[in-house]
Order: sequence, then C-alpha cells, then structure tokens
Amino acid sequence: MIVGIDLGTTNSLVGVVDSGFPILLADADGRRILPSVVHLPSPGQGDVLTGHPARRMLAVDPARTIASVKRFMGRRLAEVDAATRGDHPLAAGPDGFVRIGLGDEYLPPEAISAEILNQLKRTAEAALETTVDRAVITVPAYFNDAQRQATKRAGELAGFTVERILAEPTAAALAYGLDKLAESSKVAVYDLGGGTFDISILELNKGVFQVIATSGDTRLGGDDLDRAIVDWMEARLALPDPGSVRPRLLEAAREAKEALSGKEEVEILLPFLQAGTSHQLTLSRAEFETLASPLVRRTRAHCLRALADAGIADPTSELNAVVLVGGSTRIPMVRRFVAELFGKEPDISQHPDEAVALGATIQAGMLSGALRDLVLLDVTPLSLGIETFGGLMNVIIPRNTTIPAKAGELFTNAVANQPSMLIRVLQGERELAKDNWDLGQFTIDFEPGSKGSARVGVQFEIDANGILRILARDTQANTDRILEIASAAVNVDDEAVERMISESVDHAFADMNERIWTEAKLKSDELLPAIDAAFAILGHEVDPQEKAAILIAATEVRAALAAEPHDAFRLKRANQALDEATETLAAMLVERAYAQALAKSS
Ligand code: ADP
Ligand code: MG
Repeated sequence: MIVGIDLGTTNSLVGVVDSGFPILLADADGRRILPSVVHLPSPGQGDVLTGHPARRMLAVDPARTIASVKRFMGRRLAEVDAATRGDHPLAAGPDGFVRIGLGDEYLPPEAISAEILNQLKRTAEAALETTVDRAVITVPAYFNDAQRQATKRAGELAGFTVERILAEPTAAALAYGLDKLAESSKVAVYDLGGGTFDISILELNKGVFQVIATSGDTRLGGDDLDRAIVDWMEARLALPDPGSVRPRLLEAAREAKEALSGKEEVEILLPFLQAGTSHQLTLSRAEFETLASPLVRRTRAHCLRALADAGIADPTSELNAVVLVGGSTRIPMVRRFVAELFGKEPDISQHPDEAVALGATIQAGMLSGALRDLVLLDVTPLSLGIETFGGLMNVIIPRNTTIPAKAGELFTNAVANQPSMLIRVLQGERELAKDNWDLGQFTIDFEPGSKGSARVGVQFEIDANGILRILARDTQANTDRILEIASAAVNVDDEAVERMISESVDHAFADMNERIWTEAKLKSDELLPAIDAAFAILGHEVDPQEKAAILIAATEVRAALAAEPHDAFRLKRANQALDEATETLAAMLVERAYAQALAKSS
C-alpha cells in the first residue's frame, strides 16, 4: 500500500486508493486537513504537537511553534531573504543549509516537516488499521534538486520510503483528468496556496499526462495577503508594541480574508490586545481587493511565460480548461483575474484544498498497482549541460524537456597529452559557461595521447523525481565517474529562473556573437600553425602565387583575431577564405604522407 501526500506550506493531507477509488483520510476528529504547523514543547512538557493544536500555539508560544516550514526546505541560509525569514532565529548548518531556532534547539527544516509527515502516517495507519511505510509526496514544480532531496529526507525521517516526488500541478491535473482519460486536451493548472504559486500547462492525451510548460513563484500566496492585512491593521491601530502581538494579528487577518471570499464586509474583533485595550476594525471586500491586487497581479507574468513556453498564442481557444486549485483561489478577485487573463471562466470542479493530495493518491495507486493505465511526464525548468572548449555552454538536456530524461554526448581532448578532463556541470540558458550556474564538477582521467584521441562519454540522467545524476565514461579504459548533484545544487528558485531566462533573451545577440567568435578562434588557432608546418615540410614545392594567396589569407585571419571589438563574422569569413586558399596545399600534404607510407611499406 502506498499513500499520497500533499505536504503543503499551509496545509497537508494524506490519501490512499481503496478498492479502486482514491480517498483522503481523516483524523480521529474527522478532519482531513492537517495545518502544517509544529509545536516543540520545552523539555519534560509533553509531546510534539502538530496540526490544529499546534496552530493554536502560534499565538501562545510563538518561539516554540513554527508554520510554513516548507519555505526553508533545501535552502541555504544565504538564500533566505527578509520576506521569507519569519520570526524564528535562523542559523546555517555545517552544510550551509538553514537550521531553524525552535526553543533551545536549532533544527533542519526536514526534521520539522518529518513531524507533519509522521502525523499523517499515524492518521493513515489509524484509518487503515495497518502499518503504512511507502509514500508519494508532492512539491511545487519549481522546487530545485536540493528542495526535492530535503523533502525526500523528511519523508524518510518520518519512516516512509519515498516512492516518488511529484510536482503539485501535475498532481492536480491528475485529479482533474482522471475521468477524462479517453480525451485529448490541454489544460492550465493555476495553484495559489498559502505560500506558493504555480502555473503549469499540461497535455492530457489518452491517459498520458505531459507537463509542457511550468512557471511560478515559491514565495507568493495567501500568507502574503495575511501580511498585507496585518500591515493595514497596524497602520490603523498604532499599537505600542505591534511585534509582540503579530501572531494574533495574522490569525485574525487570515480569518477575515477567508470570510471575505463569502461576504462583502467583515468585522475584525481584537479583544484585550495590548495593555488591556480592545479593538474593532471593519474591512470591506473592496478594501481587501485593493490590498491584494498587486500580489495577485504578480501571477500574471508567470502565466504569460508558461503560455509562451507552451506555444499557446490564444488561450481562449487553445486551452480546454484553466483548473483552479489551492485555498487562495477561493478569493473572488483571483477568479475574476484568471477569467480575464485566460479569456475563459476557470474550472472550479476541483476541491481547492484537496486536488493535489488526490492527485498524489492517484499516482500512489498507479505505483502500487491499485490503479493502472496512466503515465505521467514532467519537465525541466532550465537547460542542463557542461562547459566545453573556450568556456562555452554545451547543452545536454534542454529546458522544458520531459522527465525522466537521459541524454549524452561524446567528448574528446582538446590538446595532446592531456591526462584528464574537467567536467563542469552547468544549468542555465546563457551561451557562455561563466554566465550559467555551476552545479558541480569532477575530473575524469584517461590515457594521454594525441589531440582528439580520448573518448569520454558524458551522460545526464534525470530521474522521475527530478534528481540529476551525471555519468562520465572513458570509453577506451571503460572507467566511470558518477556525480550526483544533491548537495552541490544551487538556488534554482523561481525568481532566479526568471532572471536567467530574461537575461538570456537580453544577451542573446552578444552571447551568440561570443559563441561564434570562440568557435572561430579555436579554428584559427588550429589553422595558422598548420600552415607554417606545411610550408616547412613542402618548402619550394608550393607554387609561389598560391603561397602568396595563402599568406594574404593568413594575414587577414591574424588581423581579424587582433581586431577590437571582436567581429565574429569577420573571423569566420577569414577562416573560410584561408581554408579555401589552402585546399591544394592540404591535398599535397596528404599525397606526400601517402607516398611516404607506401615507400616505407615497400
Ligand atoms: P498550501 O498549498 O500552501 O498548503 P492551501 O492550498 O491549503 O495552501 O491554501 C491555503 C491558503 O488558502 C491559506 O493562505 C488560506 O488562508 C487560504 N484560504 C483558505 N480558504 C480560503 C478562503 N475561503 N478565502 C481565501 N483564502 C482562503
Ligand atoms: Mg498546495
């Protein structure tokens, strides 16, 4: 039996396929939603609390209670910005990754997430009356390798074998598409939760689900709306010490926001807030929408990018549905916004809180054999490759490739007697290696030989969880080196991805010029010494007129090499001219070598 888990920033759920049907499991109180909150009591003060009881502790014992721990998963301390920090002290572990100060301990985020997962495990075991130790866990599509690995570790700490890490929008599409398996359609999944936003375009085709484009923001969601309301409240209340009551204000803000999805106006009551005073505020939906609109509008660019990446010019006619999931899509303004942006009414057939968990459960059922006949495909957010001669990026797996994926290329040595080759693994969209992100590197040794004699196969493999493994093989000696990217993964958050893509567009012309230049220069560096060598061997045999033509062409190559700024096309043309001028010379060299070989053998 394998369970499906939505490990959400705000809420988590667990489900299982029972007699062919995916169902979500409820706790002893009949609740299927477990708030992703953990309370760590002082030593000797009882057990760790999770879920609703822990959420109540947010206001009572904030120093020992943590919500939205997911935003820290797989993050280095240096990557955590002010908006993400929250109120807990943070430190870097020996590996540079975040440790969260909770009471008197500094814990890795995965240890805290493991408490949530373990609670779900106990809920499932109680409901199913059996031990459960295999799980499918969902993550935002934009989670990078380190974040996925941390999620997997959290699952393992909770006592699960993690069978699959699944992208949340893919899971939502699975839930949406389960009863439409016979059809072919294109859908967008717009997921606005508590802490993250994801947009994905998927193709559903006779039971095959393929993500064709994805974009998002791992730091945008309902939590931001709560904070916007708290700021609005603080501006009106002029509290002497607002920091100390912030958890209470946040709780009140969330309640008000959720109520405003169903009515036009809410009363926010704050009894005995500070210094024995009570407060009352009225927030209208229109005022809330003014606060929320900049945040909601931030999803726009991501939607447009995903549509462009999917090659969709007219979403109104080309998309069959825009599926809404995530608790924040209950907000009427969000629905209006989506309707306007995509030119069609969004599909609200999915339960906003449950669709992702349901999809994870369906995937779990497919893996365990409880459900059949579905195949799932995901994509890479950025290109992956290695650095080659002249500092260029050599893409091995392009951006938006369906995973799992495997691709490779054969490389050779650029200089004679080179004893080894450095494999630098890069991620990004720029032409030059130095502008892309360094994921890690290693060297592979081989027998020193003449230039071009080594044969090193480099293979990239991304498994179904999005984890990258690089294999380099010296095909002559049959020696392998394997690199797993896990610990060396860099920050691939949504903003960085966005920056990378827009920079690659901005620099496309300069980058391309630089690539052509580098390739042309490598060629010149080969040609020029070869000509001198040929003249030395053939000497007077070369026709003087031809020799003069070659020297002129060579001079132009040298001039193009020395010219500033670099003119890649001039150098390329000069190389071509030199190539043509030396055609007879090259033929003579070959003939001579041939004659010599014959003479030797006779
Ligand atoms: P996550 O995927 O981040 O765990 P969810 O999809 O469970 O999040 O969504 C949680 C968010 O949805 C919270 O910010 C919550 O306040 C918000 N939310 C839930 N119900 C409503 C509602 N009725 N109106 C507006 N927001 C809501
Ligand atoms: Mg979610």
